[in-house]
Amino acid sequence: MTKKKIVIVGGGYVGFEVAKKLDAYADVTLIEQREAFVQPPAAIRALVEPTLLDKIILPYDNLLESGKVVRGRAVSISQTQVSLDSGAVFPADFIVIATGSSYAAPFKPSGDSIADFRQASMDVSGRLARATSVAIVGAGAVGTELAGEISAAQPGKTITLISSDDTLFPKYPAGFGTQLKRKLERLGVTVILGQRVQDLRHLDRPYEGSVTLADGSVITADLVFPVIGSKPQTSLVQSLPGVTSGTAGRVETDKWLRPSDYPNVFVAGDIANVGDGMTIVATTRQNPWLIKTLKKVIDGASVEKQKPYVPWKRAPILVPLGPVIGNSWLFATFGDWITRMMKGKALFIPKYRRAFGFTDADK
Ligand SMILES: Cc1cc2nc3c(=O)[nH]c(=O)nc-3n(C[C@H](O)[C@H](O)[C@H](O)COP(=O)(O)OP(=O)(O)OC[C@H]3O[C@@H](n4cnc5c(N)ncnc54)[C@H](O)[C@@H]3O)c2cc1C
Repeated sequence: MTKKKIVIVGGGYVGFEVAKKLDAYADVTLIEQREAFVQPPAAIRALVEPTLLDKIILPYDNLLESGKVVRGRAVSISQTQVSLDSGAVFPADFIVIATGSSYAAPFKPSGDSIADFRQASMDVSGRLARATSVAIVGAGAVGTELAGEISAAQPGKTITLISSDDTLFPKYPAGFGTQLKRKLERLGVTVILGQRVQDLRHLDRPYEGSVTLADGSVITADLVFPVIGSKPQTSLVQSLPGVTSGTAGRVETDKWLRPSDYPNVFVAGDIANVGDGMTIVATTRQNPWLIKTLKKVIDGASVEKQKPYVPWKRAPILVPLGPVIGNSWLFATFGDWITRMMKGKALFIPKYRRAFGFTDADK
């Protein structure tokens, strides 16, 4: 019997895992514009430890055994096929769109060039090493971790972390953010809360200059990092009939992660407005659901008979401040040791190297 064809667009945290786990069950094609997967959480530490780049840029060559990874940019999708900018067309019984999000440099590749990403990271790393003062605008997980990584690796710099919120991690129980603030301050970081920056000069890359806060005070720094969130890349999915936009420009879905009038087209990850954050943690819930559901429907079951997707109520979070300390919320707050063992020490690098077929994963 011929296998059903599944075409997945985007080889990020959703796309690579769904492709890999369905490889034995379907005829899988993964379309990805870049030649390698990059791990953004570790791209933060790569700024103070540039040799990490060699470990966190993972070519797709050995990801799949039966299916194929096609390098190219998907430009249109119908109910039965995905077309690339090269003119190549891939017929599909089921389609998963996971085009993810973009982020300010140098934390995620901005185009399709991994060489450019590597260069941007190395450039900022060099400028950071020479800087004596750093201002980080945005105190979500990325900004907080960046402050922690710099202060742990390069003590003595003047580091200011600025947030428009009145607490760190306001969606989590108060103690979680309060403890992180205290730990950052112990590392020498100045944490400014409840102050919106008025004049960010660039949103997409670090720069030398100053920022003005809502109260009129000015902070001058050798490097100002804008880290104010991910931008979902939805232009492809928006072109489908019946798609509507939700919060933060993500697309709405039905209960089975379908965004359009096409019953065989699914979305997940940063582009999908399903009640989860734009996080890898969200994909650890969405991917297993998608894999299980697709296995059933390729065997002929109806999508509507499958259990609907239910998002995290409050997702767990791990926030290392460098390799040794940090805080985690895993349905209760945990401190340095748990955070170090679960994330801070290795940043999940061995896990992803294994997934991409590297045998040195545990070294
Ligand atoms: C610095 C940083 C640190 C982070 N740390 C954490 C963390 O510690 N924990 C956590 O839970 N989350 C973290 N996140 C968030 C996490 O990276 C995202 O939630 C995750 O990457 C989303 O996965 P995704 O598969 O939806 O999209 P992405 O990972 O963005 O992947 C999308 C892929 O689609 C490809 N693509 C896009 N359009 C096309 C097209 N038209 N044709 C072909 N390919 C296309 C892109 O090249 C990309 O490879 C972090 C984010 C950043 C920026």
